[in-house]
Amino acid sequence: MAVGVLALQGSFNEHIAVLRRIGVKGIEIRKPEQLQNVHALIIPGGESTTMAKLAEYHNLFPALREFVKMGKPVWGTCAGLIFLANKAVGQKEGGQELIGGLDCTVHRNFFGSQIQSFEAELSVPELAAKEGGPQSSRGVFIRAPAILEAGPEVEVLADYPIPSKKLTDSKSVTGNQEVKIGSKDKVIVAVRQGNLLATAFHPELTADTRWHSYFLKMMAECGDQGNFSTGGDDIN
Ligand code: GLN
Repeated sequence: MAVGVLALQGSFNEHIAVLRRIGVKGIEIRKPEQLQNVHALIIPGGESTTMAKLAEYHNLFPALREFVKMGKPVWGTCAGLIFLANKAVGQKEGGQELIGGLDCTVHRNFFGSQIQSFEAELSVPELAAKEGGPQSSRGVFIRAPAILEAGPEVEVLADYPIPSKKLTDSKSVTGNQEVKIGSKDKVIVAVRQGNLLATAFHPELTADTRWHSYFLKMMAECGDQGNFSTGGDDIN
């Protein structure tokens, strides 16, 4: 059983390092045919426009969409979340190509620019239920997106309060497009929809390996009977 990590740009090495720590080999994916060798895929964070341009250049979009449609587990972190969303807002007219499949509207830079990056404790009961450990999980948010709307099939794993400035300044919420956040005071930052997992933050940059273990369990649930050795130096 092998987990692919899209290795065009961004934090793919960090994901591969966490997989190694839990005893799983991560395989770098740069070409469409390489997807045939893996049972699941992680799409890392980075810069989604650049990643989309590189994916287009390598003709990866059809193979990535097929991979999602086949029901294989795919986890998008940050820019990877944007890639998986059916709709992205908060970007220039036309935007970038998306893989889609995740029934969500995502705001690409909801939490602001690089200097507004932050860390926060998130409450994730599902992670504790499946992986043990505390309900809280450290979220590293870097130029982070957020999910503004999610369809009925989408299970919300974690949400986060909207910074109060955004509630009073609708322009900063909408970027270049009008987006209604209604009377909500929270946005969604982690979801699961069947074979798809998406997090607006970067678990690969923390010492907590539970998100990666959770994703591996999804492989078994999605039909691939993963038989992983988890003999690495797991530090849950
Ligand atoms: N907001 C960024 C984008 O649009 C994603 C940031 C990240 O992946 N850390 O690509």
